[in-house]
Amino acid sequence: MQWEQLTAPDFSKAVQETGVCILAFGVLERHGDHLPLGTDYLNGHRLACLSAENEPAVVFPPFYFGQIYEARCFPGTVTLKPTLLLEMLSAVLDEIGRNGFTKIILLNAHGGNDALLPFLTQTMLWEKKSYSVYYYDAYREASATPEWKQTLQTTQHGHACECETSISLANHPHLVRMDQVNGIGESQDMLDELPGNFSAISWYANYPQHYAGDARSATAEKGQKLQAIKVKAFAKFIGAVKRDTIVPMLEAEFFERESRLRK
Ligand SMILES: [Zn+2]
Repeated sequence: MQWEQLTAPDFSKAVQETGVCILAFGVLERHGDHLPLGTDYLNGHRLACLSAENEPAVVFPPFYFGQIYEARCFPGTVTLKPTLLLEMLSAVLDEIGRNGFTKIILLNAHGGNDALLPFLTQTMLWEKKSYSVYYYDAYREASATPEWKQTLQTTQHGHACECETSISLANHPHLVRMDQVNGIGESQDMLDELPGNFSAISWYANYPQHYAGDARSATAEKGQKLQAIKVKAFAKFIGAVKRDTIVPMLEAEFFERESRLRK
């Protein structure tokens, strides 16, 4: 169920029946020369909608604010000041909670959010909320399955690559420009003399064209297979979140203990 498509009475019913809202996180950023700027949020939202058809939950409207400072040098990127971003994301979660959801799934559909969203989740122990947050990385689980690997021809992946381009071809072929695929996005390894280091410029140092992998062999057929793997895994996760009683119980216990410190 898509939040923005429901009437107010149907929305209330959906909150009652599911208790779970999915917020898919993508961004607006360059994806090589051949994929649209909205790739991550378009694919993430689609994954959420398809999965919620299998395991009912309410999907928050398409959302495209997150961590993508490393693409600020490319046209079309949209970012917010770090402190504002965190405050805004927290406020959006509170609004979802204020509407009655007791569980919120943060569906990460953008690699650059893989520090921000776990951190946002950790902040849920800063103060007591009316909801619990569950973080899920859409790529990590699906890409570890044998079926995922069997579907692909190339081994280097990361950004606008064979898998992301294939899924884009399955979801919105009219937005993909296969004639503009610019060879292979190979890592430049410019920070090799700093093993173990991470700097803000690390991603840019490896992929100055914001393209990582090889999209040349991407097809819509592969994309449909990859999408099905992701949908199956994520629908299973939604089901597990719906059944979960441990996280809310432990959070209640945690805040009860924390409040006793102040007595
Ligand atoms: Zn992407």
